[in-house]
Amino acid sequence: MINTPKSNRMHIAIFGKRNSGKSTLINAITGHNIALVSDLAGTTTDPVYKAMELLPIGPVVIIDTAGLDDEGSIGELRIKKTKEVMDKTDLALLVFDDNENISLEKQWYDELKNREVPMIGVINKIDVKNGDTTHITDTFDIPFVKVSAKDKLNIGKLKEAIQLNAPSDFERKVIVGDILKPKDTVVLVAPQDIQAPKGRLILPQVQTMRDILDHDAMSLTVKGSELENILNTLNKKPDLVITDSQIFKYVNDTIPKDVTLTSFSILMSRYKGDLNTVIAGAKHIDELKDGDKVLIAESCTHHPLKGDIGREKLPKWLQERNNIDLDITINAGSDFPKDLSKYSLIVHCGACMFNRKQMMTRIIRAQSQGVPITNYGIAIAYMNGILDRVTEMF
Ligand code: SF4
Repeated sequence: MINTPKSNRMHIAIFGKRNSGKSTLINAITGHNIALVSDLAGTTTDPVYKAMELLPIGPVVIIDTAGLDDEGSIGELRIKKTKEVMDKTDLALLVFDDNENISLEKQWYDELKNREVPMIGVINKIDVKNGDTTHITDTFDIPFVKVSAKDKLNIGKLKEAIQLNAPSDFERKVIVGDILKPKDTVVLVAPQDIQAPKGRLILPQVQTMRDILDHDAMSLTVKGSELENILNTLNKKPDLVITDSQIFKYVNDTIPKDVTLTSFSILMSRYKGDLNTVIAGAKHIDELKDGDKVLIAESCTHHPLKGDIGREKLPKWLQERNNIDLDITINAGSDFPKDLSKYSLIVHCGACMFNRKQMMTRIIRAQSQGVPITNYGIAIAYMNGILDRVTEMF
């Protein structure tokens, strides 16, 4: 559990005005002094993330945010970052003291509600302010818990409420185990020149291997150049081959036609997002016209190497396919444009660094603006005419 990647943990974020006691609350819930606590309003700048075990939910990330009433140009930046946190929040704690004016809290409540984020209201500071709070509890259609974060009063009740209100669709779904049987043999194919940080494999490969082992199947990892060797060495055909999407065509042509094939990127798009939407999105590739704007989006800011998939290969393949010039924008990291309407297509990476909520927020934003969205692996499979083969097992 301690090694559960952050992106697979339920994200519980704490929102409230400056000095409503959010940082003290996070320290009370986690039992550690991880958030900076000060009597000065607005001490929390960037969101603070704390990974912890919250039994019986399991691994979670608690996020402390800047006050949404922050002021000035730095304050605006903090509010922007706090709103980005909303995009990845699985469960929100909306913190109040017994303040009379709750119009700002109502705005944040509406923002979270629009994102379909379940919420718990936390009325803090009952050690010093224990007045009538019905004007708060009557305004918001969410469960409330009254606490004193400073004296750790009712923190147990709050943890129970978190367990009760944890989103029911938050499940650590399997990556590939549901299509495997115990003792199945899975061959994992990395690209020829392993484009990974020195000394380790990239997260989608590691997570997939772990899932295969968790389901009592066997995994063999090879570079593309060793694929034929391993097929000749095995005394039976592999039950599944999972490849890096960049060498889809080579792997498709190399393995027997009756061996099931997919890619890490496709597995990730099923795990983190919505496979049907990104499959439908790929079918818009052939509708692209000269000058159309295409957004290529990645969830991390890795240092691109020569031949980078998002910056070099995909733009080349997309343009060569229809013999057109596209206006391509690369968007890397957690920032994602609010207005997507100018784009004719979004092609997204596997989003291994994101939690599902974060990826779904992007998918929903694209859908609500009528912009098709697809995924690296799906797009490459489509352009190679093997989309049916690499998705038929799901
Ligand atoms: S977040 Fe996207 S670009 Fe970054 S390693 Fe994961 S799949 Fe690749």
